[in-house]
Amino acid sequence: MEKRGWCGPCHHRCGLNLKIENGKAVSVKGDKNHPMSRGFMCGRGKTILEHLYHEDRLNYPLRRVGDRGGNEWKRISWDEALDEIANRLGKIRTRYGAESLAFSHGTYRTYGWPIKRFFNLFGSPNISGAQSICRCPSWTVEWATYGAPCFPDMRNTFLIVLFGSHPKDSCPHPAWTGISRAKEKGAKLIVADPMKNAEAEVADIWLPLRPGTDLMIMLSWIKLIIEEGLFNEEFVEKWCYGFDRLAEMVRSHSHDEAERITGVSKDLILSSGRLFATTGPAVIPWALGIDKQGVNAQQVQRARLILSAITGNIDIAGGELVGRNGLNAISDYEMELNEKLDESQKAKQLGAETYGLMAYPGWEMIRDAAERLPKEYSLPPVAEFGASAHARVVFEAMFTGDPYPVKAFFSQASNPIITLPNPKRNYEAISKAELVVVMDYYMTPTAMVADFVLPAAGTLERADIQDIHGFADWIIANPRALEPLYERKDDYLLWKELGRRLDQAEYWPWERMEDALNYRLKPLGLTFKDLCEQYIYTVEKRYRKYERYGFATNTGKIELYSTIFEKLGLDPLPVYQEPPESPLSNPVLSQKYPLILLTGTRFMPMYHSELRQIESARKQRPHPYAIIHPANAKEYGISDGEWIAVENNHGGARFVAKINEAVQEKMVHIEHGWWFPEREGKAPSLFGAFESNANNLCPDGHEFVSKEIGTWPHTALLCRISKL
Ligand code: SF4
Repeated sequence: MEKRGWCGPCHHRCGLNLKIENGKAVSVKGDKNHPMSRGFMCGRGKTILEHLYHEDRLNYPLRRVGDRGGNEWKRISWDEALDEIANRLGKIRTRYGAESLAFSHGTYRTYGWPIKRFFNLFGSPNISGAQSICRCPSWTVEWATYGAPCFPDMRNTFLIVLFGSHPKDSCPHPAWTGISRAKEKGAKLIVADPMKNAEAEVADIWLPLRPGTDLMIMLSWIKLIIEEGLFNEEFVEKWCYGFDRLAEMVRSHSHDEAERITGVSKDLILSSGRLFATTGPAVIPWALGIDKQGVNAQQVQRARLILSAITGNIDIAGGELVGRNGLNAISDYEMELNEKLDESQKAKQLGAETYGLMAYPGWEMIRDAAERLPKEYSLPPVAEFGASAHARVVFEAMFTGDPYPVKAFFSQASNPIITLPNPKRNYEAISKAELVVVMDYYMTPTAMVADFVLPAAGTLERADIQDIHGFADWIIANPRALEPLYERKDDYLLWKELGRRLDQAEYWPWERMEDALNYRLKPLGLTFKDLCEQYIYTVEKRYRKYERYGFATNTGKIELYSTIFEKLGLDPLPVYQEPPESPLSNPVLSQKYPLILLTGTRFMPMYHSELRQIESARKQRPHPYAIIHPANAKEYGISDGEWIAVENNHGGARFVAKINEAVQEKMVHIEHGWWFPEREGKAPSLFGAFESNANNLCPDGHEFVSKEIGTWPHTALLCRISKL
């Protein structure tokens, strides 16, 4: 028997066909009929059956019985776990206030809206996590600038520009397949990246810039486009706000300075800029490499969006698609019940005063602008990520009780001891909470310090729909291939059951996710079963939607000059800031730490901190690697395959040296997300959580993070290396 399911080790929900024998999945392949993935399956996806049946999977709820971190557990029933957790949560709310509950996010391995719905009804504004470096910041900036997120129309484009993007390993489908197809059809490719990855290898132009300086190249391109008259005058005149101020601002920008700061020759900067400006339609897709740049992270996204706008590459075939296509299923945003969270509770959100853009202050401005226009075209960002607390401020509150106590902590398909900066601080902070609940697939370093560990069902055991938060021109069914094994549950059931136990019963009327999906699909005249049978529901893809609606911003135009940034006291036009620890900003420190550190680049088949216990994945990646240029390997006497120490001002970690020219001289790339499920779980080891943890070297203090969102630097730092 064959059953349909969907793939989970990354975000893209490729369709799968499972062969089932005697109730067990015995093989899996890509689903050729899936409207998006068309049979595609990458090396990461091929691990999914090992994951489904892995002997280390969590299968039953556990309660801690010994000391915290002591790895002593008692198996309990779901009802016991839910009753006890709800009871303790209720007491904590009564004693310390609802805001004393915080949540740590992973990267979209769970349902989103049930978490936010629960938090809104409970009364806590403190959902935080890795979202301040991963796609959500650029989404937020897209909303602030265009009034909606944007998506590259790769299929019809003539030119693709990648700034800090490695889709071959981060998004094999649809990004890398889309780029490869566009190239086959003759599209040009410009890659700006410190690393010579697969994308740079096949690029028409590669700009090997110094990490963290992308904005200087973009500012040069903006200046060139304006001063050489290469902008789309009609589009700018009619649909862009603040062009004159932008032109005035870039007048003082120097291409020579851009060459000095980026390390890329002025000629190459200018010739690539001219190619971009004169080859249309063109796209500059979102990229994680610029979303994780610390101080410049949001301003570089602003410049990216400005480049697409002034060249008129907006909502045309082959350009950046902006706005909804009238797909009126009930959206994730509507399911969150954001109106249920009191203003007084929103005002307590941790970090919002300092990093306002992706917290309630900025989100409310974005929401108000988005709600000016009809829902068929415009929707605010989901508050689950668009209005989040700042993780560092949450951990500090948990540790110190200032500005108020954070006593209960939930982590779900997340692993903040590994995936967030300052891992030891995170560990110590979490250890101080009165109630720690982790729902995950495996016992992780973070689960090890929990009071309750709950077994999560994976994507093959869950149902969902996919419509890119309502902005796609399609909605795809992701059916549940198998009922959850053992006592695993999907996270909808966790939040529903806790909600029902904590006075929220009337807001959780659906027994299972499938029932909630029926409700969401009702406006389309479909049930979830109908959608599964037909795979996909589509509406007409519309271009130039702004001609009918305008843009969902305060001015009704694309905001080259951002009124939202201005109101938040942020730079309304993109301004470059030298990273605080770089050879230019701190030459004394760079004598001690002479190499530039990069981390966070995706690598196959791992994804973030996942798959470390999957045997086929570990065969391919047995160790955490540091890529070193041959010249530096020679300088430090390091051989390929040797363990080395990588250290800086903030901490150190150990990696196995991989010597090649994927990094430039004087740069080192270390892999992120490493821990060792095969090591001792008990604290202080926590499965070797602190040994090869790239985040040991990443700071999140105020001076290192962006003013807008508090994005910490996961690149453009300093380090030194030595043999171990
Ligand atoms: S790109 Fe790979 S890992 Fe991601 S959903 Fe598709 S097959 Fe799965």
